[in-house]
Amino acid sequence: MSASALKPAAGTAARSAPAAAPLVIDIDGLSLAYQAADGPVLALSDIDLEVRAGEFVSFIGPSGCGKTTLMRVVANLVEPSAGTIRVNGMTPEEARLKRAYGYVFQAPALYPWRTVRRNLMLPLEIMGMKRAEREARARKYLALVGLEGFENKFPWQLSGGMQQRVSIARALGFEPQLLLMDEPFGALDEINRDRLNEHLLRLWEKTRVTVVFVTHSIQEAVYLSNRIVVMSPRPGRILEVIDSDLPPDRTLDVRETPEFLAIAHRVRMALRASHSYDD
Ligand code: ADP
Ligand code: MG
Repeated sequence: MSASALKPAAGTAARSAPAAAPLVIDIDGLSLAYQAADGPVLALSDIDLEVRAGEFVSFIGPSGCGKTTLMRVVANLVEPSAGTIRVNGMTPEEARLKRAYGYVFQAPALYPWRTVRRNLMLPLEIMGMKRAEREARARKYLALVGLEGFENKFPWQLSGGMQQRVSIARALGFEPQLLLMDEPFGALDEINRDRLNEHLLRLWEKTRVTVVFVTHSIQEAVYLSNRIVVMSPRPGRILEVIDSDLPPDRTLDVRETPEFLAIAHRVRMALRASHSYDD
C-alpha cells in the first residue's frame, strides 16, 4: 500500500499535532537500571522521544519491556540512570509538584468507603481546593465520562468499566495537561474495552488533553492514537514510531478499513521483527 493511502480523505483534518505545538514530554538518551538483589536490571535503554501538546501517543511492547517504568519516570516515581527528561519544560519533580499530569492505573484504585463523588473530591481536597470548586469539578468530570446520576453510589455498586471511568474522571479532575494511562482497560472484557475506547477518544477530542497510553493490544493502540511507539523486549528500546492519520471522528467501524488494517500490520511487523509477537 502506498503512503498516500494512509493520508486522511480530503476534507478531514489531519490529527497529528502541528510541529509547533509545545513539547509536553522531551526525553533524550534516557536509560534506567533497577538495582535488584542479584545485580542491576536494565529496564530502559537509550530512549529518545518527544510528545507534543494534544497528541495521543500509545506504547506497545511485550510484557516486561519497560512501559510502566517509562510512565513512572515521567511521573517522577523513579529516577533515570542516564539521560534527560523534561515534562512541560520542567524536571519531572517540578511537574509532579505542579500536578502537571494525571495517572490512571490498570486497577481503578478507588476507596470503597467513599462515594464516587467523594472519591473524585479527595485528591482535590488534599490539594487545598475550596469545597464549592471541588464539587463543581467532580460534577463536571463525572458528566464528561458519562456518569451523571452515579455520584452517590459506592465503587462496589458499579461495573468494572464504570469504575475505570471514575478513575479517569478523577485524573481529569486536576485539569492536567498530560494524562498517563497504564493499561487502563487491560482487565476488562472486549465489549467493555471497545466501549471505553470509543468513549476515551470522544473525551480526548473534547478536552485535547495530551495522552500517553500503554497497551498490549494492537487494535486499541491503532484505534486511539496518532502515534504508536513500538518497544523491544527488555531492555526496552524504541524500535519504531508509527504515525496514524485516521479520521478524527472515527468510530470502532474504522477497524475494518484498509487504512486501519495497514497501520495495524505495520505495528505487528515491528513487534514481530523483534521476536516479541507471534500469532
Ligand atoms: P512493562 O510495564 O513493560 O511490563 P515494567 O516497566 O514493569 O515492564 O518492567 C520492566 C523490567 O524491569 C521488568 O524486567 C521488570 O521485572 C523490571 N522491574 C520493574 N520494576 C522493578 C523494580 N522495582 N526492581 C527491579 N526490577 C524491576
Ligand atoms: Mg506494565
